[in-house]
Amino acid sequence: GATLGVLGGGQLGRMFAHAAQQLGYRTAVLDADASSPAGLVSHLHVQTGYLDAGGLARMADACAAITTEFENVPADALRTLAARVPTAPAGDAVAVCQDRAAEKALIERCGVPCAPHALIETEAQLAAVADSLLPGILKTARMGYDGKGQVRVRDRAALVAAWTELGRVPCVLEQMLALDFEISLVIARDAQGASVALPIQRNLHRDGILAVTEVPAPGVDAALAERAHDAARRIADGLGYVGVLCVELFVLKDGSLVANEMAPRPHNSGHHSIDSCDVSQFDLQVRCMAGLPLVAPRLHSAALMLNLLGDLWFDPAGREREPDWAAVLALPGAHLHLYGKTEARRGRKMGHLTLTASSPEGARLQVDRAAAILGLPGL
Ligand code: ATP
Ligand code: MG
Ligand code: MG
Repeated sequence: GATLGVLGGGQLGRMFAHAAQQLGYRTAVLDADASSPAGLVSHLHVQTGYLDAGGLARMADACAAITTEFENVPADALRTLAARVPTAPAGDAVAVCQDRAAEKALIERCGVPCAPHALIETEAQLAAVADSLLPGILKTARMGYDGKGQVRVRDRAALVAAWTELGRVPCVLEQMLALDFEISLVIARDAQGASVALPIQRNLHRDGILAVTEVPAPGVDAALAERAHDAARRIADGLGYVGVLCVELFVLKDGSLVANEMAPRPHNSGHHSIDSCDVSQFDLQVRCMAGLPLVAPRLHSAALMLNLLGDLWFDPAGREREPDWAAVLALPGAHLHLYGKTEARRGRKMGHLTLTASSPEGARLQVDRAAAILGLPGL
């Protein structure tokens, strides 16, 4: 069969490969690491850095279509590939998602609210920040993830110190918003502009890293869901996006909805869809790049996803151990996904566990049990 390629060999690439192979495709992965999670399960592993012209040429030669799992893949690499082989998403769209200033400008242009903010690239811009943006969060414009590259600032003195701490690189200062809760929406859009979306996901972060995702999203009524879907559609349309896009949104205490950021790929908060929906976010990614029909995923089970970070691989004394998977797998509705990473490190995403049930209450009960087994905090 034809080969579908992915730039980046992490867990997102691995789950993409699983979905592609289910439809009979072979998979090719470009990653510098010889034993990357996606490379381990693919037919072709192009072992090179992202900018390597030879590596890109080998991918273009081998693949019928190419996508990316790595948010910070150089947009130019995607443009180079697109000149030779169907590539989605496009470099231009990915470039917007890689820069918080461009991202916020796009969100506003689409008529979707985002946090009041200011771009800080110079001393003068730092001094000119409006009082109304404080307290706020200073975020590097590029390369931040999992809460890295951002500092919460109470006042002007803290802001000045934070910009120095972040290396005086271009940053965006955002007003600190009064969040009620966080949601995300995974949308897939085809080359004709038609789109489908996963159900709205409610997300809980711990230490800046996604910890738990729940569907259906508690507290999201039909009207709020429609506003969130509308926001995601506007953004995907505004980007002329082809592929899978995740939009992170905040629901504020006053009930308003604000877009936070986008990820130009399947998203950690959409992993539940493998086990809770009849079409997963990775199935949608495959369909988008292969030009196959998009159908709206149907949520057939309530689900909660727990991220499994490397911390679980260490006992309280700091010795390495393997979590008790047998006990977890004894729970009905437990779907364990381990990414095949050989080295556990604290904060590293090693896998995830989705608990499905016929009702939200049932899924919550199973999560409490799984959390107790793993030594994770409950909901
Ligand atoms: P990701 O791993 O999702 O890419 P990130 O490092 O890009 O994370 P953000 O998603 O921008 O960072 O912010 C991380 C978290 O910080 C958010 O999920 C939210 O909990 C909180 N946060 C970010 N911006 C604001 C804001 N303006 N007001 C209040 N809380 C915020
Ligand atoms: Mg981010
Ligand atoms: Mg985020």
